[in-house]
Amino acid sequence: MTASARAAPVLTPQRVGALRRRLLAWYDVEGGEFPWRAARDPYAALVAAVCSQQTQMARVLPLWERWMAAFPTLAGAAVADDANALRVWGGAGYPRRALSIVGTARVCVREHGGALPRDEVALLALPGVGPFTAAIVRCFGWGDDAAAIDTNVVRVLGRVVHGDLQPARETSGAVLAATARRLLPPGDAGRWNPALMDYGARVCTPRPRCEACVVATVCAARPRFARGERAEPLRRQPAYAGSDREWRGRILRVLRASDGALGGEELLARVGAAPGDAARVRALVAALAREGFVTVERAGRVVLGGAACGELGARDGGAAV
Ligand code: SF4
Repeated sequence: MTASARAAPVLTPQRVGALRRRLLAWYDVEGGEFPWRAARDPYAALVAAVCSQQTQMARVLPLWERWMAAFPTLAGAAVADDANALRVWGGAGYPRRALSIVGTARVCVREHGGALPRDEVALLALPGVGPFTAAIVRCFGWGDDAAAIDTNVVRVLGRVVHGDLQPARETSGAVLAATARRLLPPGDAGRWNPALMDYGARVCTPRPRCEACVVATVCAARPRFARGERAEPLRRQPAYAGSDREWRGRILRVLRASDGALGGEELLARVGAAPGDAARVRALVAALAREGFVTVERAGRVVLGGAACGELGARDGGAAV
């Protein structure tokens, strides 16, 4: 059944109150404790949001700690050497994120007096900052009422309010965003956002644990799950092995471990390229250079770090922080 075929959700003050009370009470006991959630530090929140993009929570904390140890302040990140930033990021995946943080820090020093802006529009203009990261900076960093919407939040709200099984397929992003804003308890976004994120990660999971759910009696999807309907899985990521992504990871790993530039043949050997892989690796090195991850020097020698930092435009897809 599509969302449009179901009755429009009724959000009475009583229902909204029950949802907020129960989820916040659950969070106070069961919620995850992460340093950026209570720090009231916009930079710490920015780093957490960027680290969490496409990354499971178990891997976010060590990455965040490693980054904050290397670049504890926005000013420090702004003067970071690209190659050093990529080395600190290590093999955490999607290294564009490291350059996005550095690029954002540089813009903030240049245009915002050395601080992250509080205004949503100004945040969204920063490199790699999308609606999710902007909301995380505003709610954890500045204490503002901003609804942070990631896949877990979408799943919880789409089910509880709209009666969806797989909300990302059944209700539009604009409607879910309006629902998120409507439910946000004024003055308490710093607890409410992580409460929804953690609830989606641990209870209202892709295969929900409705029998253990504290909001089951006010959840519009509960009757559907109770009848045996199932959430169709979302599309899986394409295979990593043998993909361009894997080869790019190999190239960057070799360059991170190298003290200086590598000649083309040496690079091919170190990444384990067979003769038939050479053209593909060269094309990927050229792409990495265009994106600012590496520089191809004269005579074709390749070195980590590039010149395009700060112009990288990948926007966040949102993930739990
Ligand atoms: S009752 Fe089930 S579907 Fe509804 S919020 Fe709880 S766990 Fe999710």
